Amino acid sequence: MTFDEQLNRGEILPLMEAFYTIQGEGYHTGKAAYFLRLGGCDVGCHWCDVKESWDANLHPATPTLKMIDEIPSGIETIVITGGEPLAYNLNYLTEMLHQKGFQVHIETSGAYPVTGKWDWFCLSPKKNKLPVEESYLKSNELKMIIHNQHDFVFAEEQAALVNTSSELYLQPEWSKREKITPLLIDYVMANPKWKISLQTHKFLNIP
Ligand code: SF4
Repeated sequence: MTFDEQLNRGEILPLMEAFYTIQGEGYHTGKAAYFLRLGGCDVGCHWCDVKESWDANLHPATPTLKMIDEIPSGIETIVITGGEPLAYNLNYLTEMLHQKGFQVHIETSGAYPVTGKWDWFCLSPKKNKLPVEESYLKSNELKMIIHNQHDFVFAEEQAALVNTSSELYLQPEWSKREKITPLLIDYVMANPKWKISLQTHKFLNIP
């Protein structure tokens, strides 16, 4: 089978890094989780804190089964992140992870068709490349990054599109956190359907 065929089937994926840490953001904050970060993203958020993930060619094409074999024992939850992980066909990855009994979460902008079966779908829409319809329907958690005042308007627009059971989070963009966090506090008290998400892993100085 050619390289492209293997990639299209999700049997190899560009792996940027794999690490066991504490989920720092959103609904599952505080939970131990093993992260698989896939390289490649064309969404282009100017404030992105993982710009080194953007070029998939910089990250080694890795057999999906090898990624899974290298997960240490004792781990319950796997988070697939990026980059933009749904740039790839993730059916094979999630099928193999579920066969091993893992809970499988994703963090995605939602801008690509949904592949894979997910126990938790964290949707974080970006203005540059809006989610596809299916992502809004799958969302267990809508996580909106707030960088400026207009982002509150965008957050409300996106909240109107997700399924009604989705949790709603506002998270200050890290570089603007000192300016934005007080605005978030006021906003959430005035609009209690939202909760605040903080990047607690950065305060804890862990990956
Ligand atoms: S979607 Fe995520 S990885 Fe891609 S540019 Fe935006 S913040 Fe960075």
